[in-house]
Amino acid sequence: MAQDQFNQMVFDVARSQSAAHLTPEPAIPALLRLVQDAVSLSNDLLAEIAERDISDITEIACEIGCAWCCYQQVGVTAPQALHIADYLQRGDAKIPADAALERLEELDDITNGMSNVERLKIRRPCALLDEQGACLIYAVRPLACRGCNSMDAEICRRTVEDFEAITEEWRDRSAPPWIHRLPYEAMAMIQDGVLAATVDAGFREDKLELTAALRIALEDPDAGSKWLSGDPVFETARLPRLQSVWDDISEG
Ligand code: SF4
Ligand code: SF4
Repeated sequence: MAQDQFNQMVFDVARSQSAAHLTPEPAIPALLRLVQDAVSLSNDLLAEIAERDISDITEIACEIGCAWCCYQQVGVTAPQALHIADYLQRGDAKIPADAALERLEELDDITNGMSNVERLKIRRPCALLDEQGACLIYAVRPLACRGCNSMDAEICRRTVEDFEAITEEWRDRSAPPWIHRLPYEAMAMIQDGVLAATVDAGFREDKLELTAALRIALEDPDAGSKWLSGDPVFETARLPRLQSVWDDISEG
């Protein structure tokens, strides 16, 4: 199957399974189940991709402790932010919710409003990355994080530590050749499918930055109900678009 057809299929599945949770009048539990289904779909797809005979898939260099990709801005939807906040508040993460909030507040005070490139240039890791380089919310990590699978960890390191040189080297490329396109685009399609379903159901088209959105979701116990009622509760976390730094750089 061609990549475009595969992407469309993933988008359609994510959109329709999300839509099933949004009628007639969704409440917070339905919203959380919607994201849990998207997480399950992503887990199934990533496992399937890893088992198939797909070009370069065995070359993926990602491993625990390698975390240069966690120095980037991460985009999420509002339901995703609420789902991660719920996971933390239930005590399922490897960090207590109040400690996570403290780390998020400290980072958000620095990064709020930054562009993708500005965020990368300050060389600060995600607030949810532990000292051993592992994600503290791994089971529910954002779809953008799930899609970042690199075939060259050294380029990932240089992207953080030698940013200007890396951007010069690959400015003319339409996509970073070291990031495997199949999982990257599949995870983006799930995220787009979730977003399309919520917009179809009349909710706000919020494209959000992870640190700021999660801070709001943890600080405000009514954030979920406010969002469901159309309140712009995540306004200060909004991004112009859900795009990675690679897309921004290739577009100049
Ligand atoms: S994407 Fe790059 S930095 Fe992140 S785990 Fe994979 S190789 Fe390491
Ligand atoms: S949420 Fe987890 S995987 Fe994603 S950037 Fe943060 S630490 Fe890394």
